[in-house]
Amino acid sequence: MEEVYDLIILGAGPAGLSAGLYAARGNLKTLILEKGIVGGQLQVTLDVENYPGMDHVTGPQISDAMEAQTRRFGCEIMTGTKVLSVDLKSQPKIIKSDKGDFRAKSIIIASGSEHKHLGVPGENEYNGKGVSYCAVCDGAFFKNKELVVVGGGSSAVEEGNFLTKFASKVTLIHRRDELRAERILQNRFKANPKTDIIYDTVVDKIDGDFLGVTGLTLRNLKTGAVTDFKADGVFIYVGLQPNTEFLGTATANGSGSLITEAGIAVDETGKILANHKMETNIPGVYAAGDIRNTPLKQAVTAASDGSLAATMAIGFVEALEDSHLPA
Ligand code: NAP
Repeated sequence: MEEVYDLIILGAGPAGLSAGLYAARGNLKTLILEKGIVGGQLQVTLDVENYPGMDHVTGPQISDAMEAQTRRFGCEIMTGTKVLSVDLKSQPKIIKSDKGDFRAKSIIIASGSEHKHLGVPGENEYNGKGVSYCAVCDGAFFKNKELVVVGGGSSAVEEGNFLTKFASKVTLIHRRDELRAERILQNRFKANPKTDIIYDTVVDKIDGDFLGVTGLTLRNLKTGAVTDFKADGVFIYVGLQPNTEFLGTATANGSGSLITEAGIAVDETGKILANHKMETNIPGVYAAGDIRNTPLKQAVTAASDGSLAATMAIGFVEALEDSHLPA
């Protein structure tokens, strides 16, 4: 008979690790499945200055500390395990992965999100040859080079600022006349002498040669003017998309909601709809962190979501066990 976990958590970012800590400490037999390495977006965040109580630490430092604490309470963590599909309506619930099937009484989906692509010609062709989605990983390859960052959110301006440690110039290309980024990050970016911003402009094409990126074709949305812009590299930060492939395609049901093939309700951007208790529309299934429809995507809010989801899962598993006790 296959082992049945009390709780399986999908994803080992701050939401998943925090959920694992609370669940294991609350006596649930808990497993975290992670397709990559532990840490999620924290692994590619160099400087974290707004995690309360931990001033100026790196993302990996926070993630390592969370992992050690979570494991200390007996939570199992299996990395390099990609979830392929889920059967959330059966009890126990079944998770199919590339390492075999797993069964659990309750599930927390904390699989996070990844950077969206622009979808323009040249983007895939020069990915890894001048096109990047990770300044921390690739910034050092661009010493004294001229870079473009695409996007106007906090990621774009924060990572753009970071890139000035290496690049001679960083130009931000934003599609509107106003940035979306947090004000403090905007001000820091604008005050940096190595930065520039081009507003109302989109990237039509990323140009290059056999060595990699050489520039971009830009289009001003107000005037329609198309220009060539020279650049040695392009960092793309145009938002995040939730990692929910294993839930299947979402389609509209009769009442206007979007429901995935696995039966989970999502919003129009694919984020899981969860209430203030992190409950999804399926009993015993919770969502935590960037994967859910939250207005703030931070390590601290992800950790908070995880702790709440785990607390709800503990109550669910206890009630399930009580319902099986002889009267
Ligand atoms: P975001 O806030 O969704 O911003 C995405 C940006 O890309 C927006 O400015 C958007 O333009 C632009 N964009 C979207 N699609 C585009 C396209 N096809 N072409 C050109 N531009 C496009 O994403 P994010 O910056 O990755 O941030 C994600 C979340 O993490 C946010 O909640 C953010 O607050 C948080 N975050 C926080 C920090 C921090 O606190 N230090 C750092 C990084 C991220 P529009 O503005 O016109 O929509």
